[in-house]
Amino acid sequence: MAERLANDLWRLDIPLVGNPLKNLNSYLLVGERSLLIDTGFRQQPCREAMERQLAETQVDRDRLDIFCTHLHSDHTGLAPELVRPGCRIFIGQIDGPGLRRAAGRDTWAELNRAYILDGFTQEQMDLLWGTNPAKTAAPPWREGLYTELPDGAELRYGGHTLRCVLTPGHTPGHLCLYDPEARRLFCGDHVLFHITPNICRWQGVRDSLGDYLASLDRTAELDVAELYPAHRAETGDLRQRTAELKAHHARRLEDALRTVTETPGLTAYEIAGRMAWSIRCRNWAEFPLTQKYFAVGEALAHLDHLEVQGAVHWEEIQGKRVYFAGAGDKI
Ligand SMILES: [Zn+2]
Repeated sequence: MAERLANDLWRLDIPLVGNPLKNLNSYLLVGERSLLIDTGFRQQPCREAMERQLAETQVDRDRLDIFCTHLHSDHTGLAPELVRPGCRIFIGQIDGPGLRRAAGRDTWAELNRAYILDGFTQEQMDLLWGTNPAKTAAPPWREGLYTELPDGAELRYGGHTLRCVLTPGHTPGHLCLYDPEARRLFCGDHVLFHITPNICRWQGVRDSLGDYLASLDRTAELDVAELYPAHRAETGDLRQRTAELKAHHARRLEDALRTVTETPGLTAYEIAGRMAWSIRCRNWAEFPLTQKYFAVGEALAHLDHLEVQGAVHWEEIQGKRVYFAGAGDKI
């Protein structure tokens, strides 16, 4: 059921069936024109929940724009089918082009090559591609469908001015929406409670984790009384959660560096297998393949950050990229 958070604000609870994230919080800011923030996958359970809850709010669908905090298909998937003529879909100007790239096969081929270099087998990559939800749950892309917004762009809905705050890390162009007057921050997947946002390596990004930590510092400076994350029912204090998330990544960095130092010459796949994860599996072999994919992506983000700091370096040996402690001779 749609939950009324304030006179002008609703939370729609969209189920993400079979996904460890469990749900997506879609926020609806109502006014003369209304704004729906994030949408759920382009899948039937999300579609049904969205349609039912939008009807409960009685929002005027012909005056409803959509804002996607970032390109992931649980945030963007339904946007093209929900939007009516004369209404717009907003996304950040970095993630917008990313949506187009994600729709192309080349991106996967590139990722495939990179992940094999980092320790996956071709067989694992074929299995991952076969079950990749982005193929069916992501939004279609076409020229002119999305309106791309830069950092600092302002939107006006229901008497509120909402400012886009560029917060790269979870994706390269993630945007939060900040309402300074109401002291509200719609934070997408930038800050989550109970679970930690996945920070992984992105093609063409040197140091995703470094970007993320800087983004956390950026949002921690905002005056926020109400924080609206995109997953789970929990919310809380922005500064306290920022400190917890930074401490989490500091521990992860230590864990990755210790692993590389103790056992030089491992791939990111093998390093991820030796790091501590909160998932309930007895060992790395028991990790479901998609969780391994995210875990390796996350290990790589930490290794990239350590590499930028000169704490680790890698060498390509027999078609695999393997890591060693120290800066190496490349720097
Ligand atoms: Zn996301």
